[in-house]
This record gives sequence, C-alpha cells and structure tokens, in this order.
Amino acid sequence: MDVKKIYMDADALLEGHFKLSSGNHSEFYLQSAKVLEDPKTAKLLAEALAVQIRESGLKVDTVCAPALGGLIAGFALATALDVRFIFAERVEGIMTIRRGFEVNKDEKVLMCEDIITTGGSAMEAARAVEALGGEIVGAAALANRGFCKRENSDITRKENCKLPQDIPFFALADFTFEMYTPNACPLCKDGSEAIKPGSRGN
Ligand code: ZN
Repeated sequence: MDVKKIYMDADALLEGHFKLSSGNHSEFYLQSAKVLEDPKTAKLLAEALAVQIRESGLKVDTVCAPALGGLIAGFALATALDVRFIFAERVEGIMTIRRGFEVNKDEKVLMCEDIITTGGSAMEAARAVEALGGEIVGAAALANRGFCKRENSDITRKENCKLPQDIPFFALADFTFEMYTPNACPLCKDGSEAIKPGSRGN
C-alpha cells in the first residue's frame, strides 16, 4: 500500500513552502483530515493498520483517541478491529474521559491518532485512561512523523518522542520531512515565501 501516494492524491500531503503552526518552515504540509474525508479511504487505511495489529498478536479491548484529531482514525480502526471506541477530550486544558465512557480495570486500551508526531496528545489521553484503571497496550496512527519508532521500520527514536518504549507503536508509513527555523530555511534562501496552509481554508 503506497500511503504517501494516497495522501498526495487526497491533497492531504502538500508540497511547497509552508509555515507550520510551530513557526518552522517546511517543504511539506500534512492535513490528515483530508485523507479521511473519503470514508472508503479511511476504511482502507484503518483495515491495513488493523492487519498489522492483529498479526502482532496484541490483544486490544478498546481503541481510545484524543479528540479532535484522532477521532476519525480511531473510530475507523476500532471498526476494523471490531472493538469498542472511546475518546478523550480537553476540558479546561486537561485530557479527560467524559460522555459516560467507562473503562474497566485492566481493560486493554490502544491509543490512536491520525498522525503521531511526538505522541504527546495520545499519552495525555492515555493518562486519563490509566486513571480509570485501563491498561495502555499500544499506540497506533495512520502515519508516523518520524520522531517515534514504529513497528516494522528502522527509523531511530528521537529524544522528543513521548510514547513509552515498552509498548508497540503501529503506523502505515513514516513521513519524515525536514523542518527549518525561518532564518535557516533553504526555501526562503531561494527567494520563495512561506505560506500558512490555513490560508487555504483549513
Ligand atoms: Zn522558508
């Protein structure tokens, strides 16, 4: 499965000169929601991810996603794995499990996001699950930004990866592209101007 092509075809992976929300510049911009706007594509990607997870032998009772970014990918993955789906959301800045969702003691929970960058949101949501007695057995994402080490990839884990090393991380592809501070950006040096992807309406 050529995940990069699927993203490109859906305009979910843009090539150009972008100003990211961090303030850094990059030649690429990822807008995962775009690849998931076609439910058939979402289903296809989630099923491929579910195959990896099943083949690993990992036992999963429930998928949990941090809102908002992980909702569609998490729901699609839970459907593909035929398990329960819950989500965590921020309440006054704190990731919280609400909506009457319950987590049983030792319930095996897989955290899911659309893209894992450092895994920060997933792990914040994981803390909320653990507080209710759940056990975090793994993490999953459609794509990995290259800071964390996923199963079946030889990318090295970077220091800022927040996923624990003792649980597996499943993703379909690594999207590792350079980010530059504005004054060290080769694209700026070539004379082009960075655009905010938000200016296109997202
Ligand atoms: Zn630049």
